[in-house]
Amino acid sequence: MDSQKLLQRFLNYVKIETYSCSEKAEQGIQPSTESQRIFANILKDELLSLGIVDITVTEHAYVCARIRASAGFENAPSVGFLAHMDIVEGISDKAVIPQIKQIDGDTIITSSGDTILGSDNKAGIAEIICAIETVLTKQIPHGQIEIIFSPDEETGHGMDNVPLSWIQSKQCYTVDGGGLGEIEFECFNAYKTIVNFYGLAMHTGTARPNMTNATTMAAHFISMLPQNESPEATDGYLGFYAPMNICGSMEKTTVTVFLRDFSSQNMIKRIESINAFAKAIKCKFPNGNVEVEHIKQYENMKETLDKNPQVVEKLIQAVKNAGIEPVFKPIRGGTDGSRLTEMGIPTPNIFTGGYNFHSKDEYASLNEMSKACQTIIELIKLYAQNK
Ligand SMILES: [Zn+2]
Repeated sequence: MDSQKLLQRFLNYVKIETYSCSEKAEQGIQPSTESQRIFANILKDELLSLGIVDITVTEHAYVCARIRASAGFENAPSVGFLAHMDIVEGISDKAVIPQIKQIDGDTIITSSGDTILGSDNKAGIAEIICAIETVLTKQIPHGQIEIIFSPDEETGHGMDNVPLSWIQSKQCYTVDGGGLGEIEFECFNAYKTIVNFYGLAMHTGTARPNMTNATTMAAHFISMLPQNESPEATDGYLGFYAPMNICGSMEKTTVTVFLRDFSSQNMIKRIESINAFAKAIKCKFPNGNVEVEHIKQYENMKETLDKNPQVVEKLIQAVKNAGIEPVFKPIRGGTDGSRLTEMGIPTPNIFTGGYNFHSKDEYASLNEMSKACQTIIELIKLYAQNK
């Protein structure tokens, strides 16, 4: 694999503006920005130039490409690789101007300092395409390979319109992780809880004794959430309650709380705790009312992956075959892979060689990007062995 080609592809991609837009995505518009569709078509042309013929860009701007198995390898399991085309909004909306530095025998790519870099996830796209190019030009025997480049991952809507019926692979990998050797196959279970407090508003001058203030009720409720189980007090495998938003008046106040836990058993306890806190507030303010709604967002992919252990085992082997020691890291969030796993296709996450995502300090290491690319090639070789 040619690391200069990998670098060139990566630099080309980060210069193409593809900020996604949460506001549009929340309205159900996908792609949320037209720039992502333009990028999708550029990627389509690039895949065509590699000699791949089976490529579509869907109406929602998913790039779907299928590479037929080499002769004699038609029975090897099909494997899919995913990366997302959008970069996160909100830090800067300026164009990314990549900078290159040589440090200790490595090539480090940064932004010009006033934007993110977009290695999340354009490093993943460059690595997948370079891996496929290597497999095709070096005629490395392979089973069927599928590629999906998706829009709007950063808005949380990356899998909303994924063409599930198009995917034939029974296992996929997102290439959307961080530093060298990191493998991610555990993520949070996630709920969004909406708590509505209903009071009885009155003129403040004549409120005594009958007024019930929904804002006061909400404040009491939030103070009951354990501070040592907040996002700012936890890391690693510890879950949390995160009050995200409070909005309302004396008559009605709404609180949104994110519940996160790696264990589904603990998640049930968190839900029960919220219900108990709500009940306590109801007792404290007998003339008011409290309603709780728990909305599931995504679940820990580990349980499904444990039922298909070879998907992670093969990835561990591929990382080792690329000459790297695997590093296991729980994801304190969700990925497109966790959504896809829930839809029935086990999808762990591979490192990209990018660091400090979603910040102006974001950078990527070309040596590590090359290793990510090599890991993808090794995975393709491993799946070809099961012909
Ligand atoms: Zn990402």
